[in-house]
Amino acid sequence: MDEQYMRFALQLAQSARGQTSPNPLVGAVVVKHGEIVGFGAHLKAGEPHAEVHALRMAGEKAEGATVYVTLEPCSHYGKTPPCADLLIEKKVKRVVVATTDPNPLVAGKGIEKLKRAGIDVTVGVLKEEADALNEMFFHYISTKTPYVTLKYAMSLDGKIATKTGESKWITSEDARRDVHRERRMHDAIVVGVGTILADDPSLTVRFGYEGKQPIRIVLDTHLRTPLHANVVTDQKAPTWIVVGQHVTEEQMKPYEHAGVHIIRMNENKIDIPSLLHELGKRNVMSIFVEGGAHVHGSFLHSHSVQQVIAYIAPMLIGGNEAPSAIGGEGFGRMMDALRLQVKHVERIGPDIKIVAKG
Ligand code: NDP
Ligand code: ZN
Repeated sequence: MDEQYMRFALQLAQSARGQTSPNPLVGAVVVKHGEIVGFGAHLKAGEPHAEVHALRMAGEKAEGATVYVTLEPCSHYGKTPPCADLLIEKKVKRVVVATTDPNPLVAGKGIEKLKRAGIDVTVGVLKEEADALNEMFFHYISTKTPYVTLKYAMSLDGKIATKTGESKWITSEDARRDVHRERRMHDAIVVGVGTILADDPSLTVRFGYEGKQPIRIVLDTHLRTPLHANVVTDQKAPTWIVVGQHVTEEQMKPYEHAGVHIIRMNENKIDIPSLLHELGKRNVMSIFVEGGAHVHGSFLHSHSVQQVIAYIAPMLIGGNEAPSAIGGEGFGRMMDALRLQVKHVERIGPDIKIVAKG
């Protein structure tokens, strides 16, 4: 029975995917005498935690009940008071936790607090599922850098454009629609200035997946992004341009007037680990790197890849000059290649989507 209720709590948590950042996904279910008397999910940072919603629904029935929660209840004062205190105050009898919170502010303290108050606590029910649910959050909390997904659409021979730079379109409209769903799951979309110059993309979430728009981040050492580029003019989502140290205030001004936020690095190049550190400081929990080949190459070379989402079209482009999905230097030795595990394979219209993780 514990697993059954926890599975429901996980479904509740999952339903808010894409809208809780920089907070984790959490679901809670209150059960009394074999009946569900309350349930809830954390919906948005700053709003009540899952336990609060669930206990509110349960009302007086919370006394003596069992509460299933997908993540260890918090024990610190954040934007809201600690859930561990609330569970104690409501006199629940038992708390079942799927996984502990790696956040150093919580890490075991929530569970400790409950136990000290005489509440029966069980930890680890559906732990694997709960860890997978919040893998971006866990990565961010433990490394203080965003979780990185590389995404590309390529031909069956691994090309992302023709030798002349044409890339519209390799995959079908159905596959491109799926990209919007994946964008939504991330806090920011990252591209190189090469992609801005070649395609002038808008990098927004469309196709009915609108909601919170991820930040658009352009890696542009010398600030070559045209002032008339869509990401500068359309105001549809925040745009950050990352530049080298040599770029002057004078050069930056017209972009800042257009509402663009400029991040100037401390070097004349954009080093990926330093970039991730800067983004982490700005609460960016996950990034969706959409290319092009050079940028993908830099992420791979600096060992900064957690996940790859590849859309593969049954089409052959050929040519030594046509860029492949990941450019840059590449590794010289097979033993250095990044090995991943395939987590998901799906046919989308005529194309294939593969999700692989490190
Ligand atoms: P990129 O978008 O990868 O941009 C590369 C440029 O980004 C570099 O020349 C560099 O310019 C700048 N940059 C800044 N920091 C870094 C860094 N750390 N690492 C790498 N680059 C950095 O351009 P590409 O030319 O490789 O690819 C563009 C092509 O790819 C286009 O033809 C486009 O259509 C295609 N494409 C295809 C996609 C697909 O999924 N099919 C997706 C995206 C693009 P600077 O030195 O001036 O900063
Ligand atoms: Zn809480």
